[in-house]
Amino acid sequence: MTDDHSRELYDRALSVMPGGVNSAVRAAIEPYPFFVQKGDGGHVIDADGNRYIDWVMGLGPLLLGHDLPEPVRAGIQRNASEGPIYGTPTEIEVDLAEFVVRHVPSVEKIRFVNSGTEATTSAVRLARGYTGRNKIVVMQGGYHGAQESTLVEGDAENPAPSSAGVPQSFAEHTLPVPFNDEDAVREVFEEHGDDIAAVMTEPILANHGVVYPEDGYHEFLREITDEHGSLLIFDEVITGFRVGGLGCAQSEFGVTPDLTTFGKIVGGGFPVGALGGRAEIVEQLAPSGPVFQAGTFSGHPVTMAAGLETLQFAAENDVYDHVNGLGEQLRSGLTEILAEQAPSYTVTGTDSMFKVIFTRDGPGANSLEEQCSNGCRQRPTCPRYDSCPKNAADVKNAETDRWRRIFWGQMKERGVFLSQNQFECQFVSYGHTEEDVEETLEAYKEAL
Ligand SMILES: *Cc1c(COP(=O)(O)O)cnc(C)c1O
Repeated sequence: MTDDHSRELYDRALSVMPGGVNSAVRAAIEPYPFFVQKGDGGHVIDADGNRYIDWVMGLGPLLLGHDLPEPVRAGIQRNASEGPIYGTPTEIEVDLAEFVVRHVPSVEKIRFVNSGTEATTSAVRLARGYTGRNKIVVMQGGYHGAQESTLVEGDAENPAPSSAGVPQSFAEHTLPVPFNDEDAVREVFEEHGDDIAAVMTEPILANHGVVYPEDGYHEFLREITDEHGSLLIFDEVITGFRVGGLGCAQSEFGVTPDLTTFGKIVGGGFPVGALGGRAEIVEQLAPSGPVFQAGTFSGHPVTMAAGLETLQFAAENDVYDHVNGLGEQLRSGLTEILAEQAPSYTVTGTDSMFKVIFTRDGPGANSLEEQCSNGCRQRPTCPRYDSCPKNAADVKNAETDRWRRIFWGQMKERGVFLSQNQFECQFVSYGHTEEDVEETLEAYKEAL
């Protein structure tokens, strides 16, 4: 397997792009990332002609894989060839808005924007504008894009910017708490309850190793936000239209947030974000309300067509059965392999998401029989319960260097493209096959 072309391209890129990339995480691959030439179903082919089974899928947006079905391709091409944008509305924006409103019960109105970052930025502003409050509670290690209010680390007592360029005075309005920790949330509400505009969380921590919520956690967040007149925002940029099918993760958990942010799949592979929720709240956005929000490219016809045709295709075909079925095969296959080869490691994920967390401690190999067999579900009766990751700190404590510096490269050598580090999720698409799953499990067996 040679990589001369990728190396040359990265050399050129380093001269003209910071770190040689347009998004920070892409440079996580060492010594340099491979450059992709094209996709093919569930595979990608790099600049040197190497083929990989692709479980990264654009880091989440590609539900259907790289070969778009004919109606999706046709919708994109029609809207691209008729002219890019107009500065005035188009019918396809209404079509996609109606589709989302029809399938996601908490969403009565929706605004489309151009990235997940823009969606969460606007959702935070909207929550503050609607409640007249300043503070936002977020989960440590949760990811809500590259935006000022959430690039914050530390804890609720000592929040601090996690990036240069974010003023400390901004960070003070963000209260990070550990995921799955009800007491920590109770404490911030006791302290700051009447100034908390919203709790914002991913329903499943999908950017930090994949951490599943404990039973009742989201119901608890729903209750405590209601009690204090704060909003509950689900950031479904990853889980939206992936977990829980067209109803999204909120339908899987049976919890109704006030606002939901979307991105990734809802644009069918093109730049997108959206925020939706209760009409009374979303109506506070300009021009119907006082919270300013606008975007030249928002509701772009090509993106709207790609999103609408993708979701319609999923509604009319066996897409979710296919991807969730292969997801289960991967998770249960991995669970068996780990029981033999690395009993302390934890299989996580649900639906079409999967990951292996290189946890350091676990129950003895002979007591694993009753463990969660389809990805960690935080089941208190699981023998792994005391050692499986409950929050971001637990994932950080795993063997993250071994994952990235040793294991990732071993999988790449075997033609399997996994996400760049221990933290990013991996995704099954409609383009993947059982053969891809079997080859991948073989590769895990050899590489672990
Ligand atoms: C990817 C992601 C974002 C950011 O979306 P971008 O389109 O990259 O700006 C926000 N929230 C979550 C949960 C994400 O996974």
